[in-house]
Amino acid sequence: MDVEHIKYQTCPYDNEEGVLIVDLEEDTPATDEDGDLQYYCLGGHHTFSLDEDETEGW
Ligand SMILES: [Zn+2]
Repeated sequence: MDVEHIKYQTCPYDNEEGVLIVDLEEDTPATDEDGDLQYYCLGGHHTFSLDEDETEGW
């Protein structure tokens, strides 16, 4: 899976840079129960999930 294009997202809470959380053993992106990608906010030091519905059209 090519994750380079989804590796960084802007945090929807504080507009800081978020980096994709990847399972290093599986080498696949981590997802929550809804299948949304999980990101770690570098500025706010918290995790957030990406709602794919909100990112369509980017
Ligand atoms: Zn944040």
